[in-house]
Amino acid sequence: MFVCGPTVQDHLHVGHAKTYTAYDLLARLLTHLGYSVTFVMNITDVDDKIFYGAKASGKSVSAYVKFYTSSFLEDMKRLGVNTVTSYEKASDYVDIMVEQVRTLIKKGHAYVSGSNVYFDVNSFPSYGRLSHESKVELALKPVDLATGKKSPLDFLLWREGEDDEPGWSTEWGRGKPGWHIEDTAISIKNFGAQYDIHGGAHELIYPHHEAEIAQAESLTGVSPFVRYWVHTGLLTTEGKKMSKSEGNVVRLRDVLDKYGADSLRFYIFQSHYRVDSIFDELELESAHQRLLDLRERISEEVSEVSYRQKGELLPRDKLSAELLGPLLDDLNTPLLWRRVEHLSKSMGSLPQNKQVRAVLSLGLVSSLTGVDFLGMDSSNKGTESCTQLCK
Ligand SMILES: [Zn+2]
Repeated sequence: MFVCGPTVQDHLHVGHAKTYTAYDLLARLLTHLGYSVTFVMNITDVDDKIFYGAKASGKSVSAYVKFYTSSFLEDMKRLGVNTVTSYEKASDYVDIMVEQVRTLIKKGHAYVSGSNVYFDVNSFPSYGRLSHESKVELALKPVDLATGKKSPLDFLLWREGEDDEPGWSTEWGRGKPGWHIEDTAISIKNFGAQYDIHGGAHELIYPHHEAEIAQAESLTGVSPFVRYWVHTGLLTTEGKKMSKSEGNVVRLRDVLDKYGADSLRFYIFQSHYRVDSIFDELELESAHQRLLDLRERISEEVSEVSYRQKGELLPRDKLSAELLGPLLDDLNTPLLWRRVEHLSKSMGSLPQNKQVRAVLSLGLVSSLTGVDFLGMDSSNKGTESCTQLCK
């Protein structure tokens, strides 16, 4: 699984948490089902926004990148995203990108224009396959205003750099890679010509993911490049995408300081991962309270003996199937939460053996979702505990 990671130009905002927890949940579930998951996430550390951000802050590009990369990794850890096998920095793959651009030119899929190199979209007939839009429709959404292109849909593979910014020397001049080729280099190097799952927020479908498909399939001749595309909805503020330029950013670390990862994940999973939702702190606050109440109710209602079983092995039974069912149906976390709520209300009146099973099932739900319903200690979370629980 490959998921588009952040451009390290700022601290993460809470919208990133919606995206990254969705793939974390998916990876935990797949691991539980017995799949061996290799989860690679890229870090975009070569980008104009980084260059201008560093300039504005008076820092060197490398100090700026280092600062926001550690901030990102720290936030992911605090958020409980512990399924990523490796984070790959774009700057470590520039040689491969240059080689890929060369190959695309050689194969007639790309052309040099001045010191820029463009992908020739007309050389790839199925462009638009992912977004289900024709080239005519896509042409109404210009990707950039660069000049020297043969067609408005063509996108940059390599672009001319300015003298004072980081750059790499090539036969086309000193410059830097286009954004889309960064992920193609990282994913092909790690997974080869074809792999299973590619994720990212749905706003990346066009042009980013269409471009990735065009590049990869033109390079390798293998189709499909990716077997399953999984796109997440956005977490917006008042209906607008959270972004530095909109000035409506809620920093993830501030939310984690105030509510913690369990409550934030509980809140995020109240909505389905594919749906856009609006970040509302009052709703987060009430989700936080609901989780505390649930935890308290469960620990009070359940007998000491049953409660002590938490974290033990869960036998496959009707109850565990009932709780796993919603997750197996396209990660239907809102339905899962309703079932957890329902179960918590009836636990007190269950006979001892069923109560134990209920505790074990909630332990499994906790380890899959990263939302602790049982007051388990922090070492008993995430994939490690899932592996222990499930095998
Ligand atoms: Zn990407």
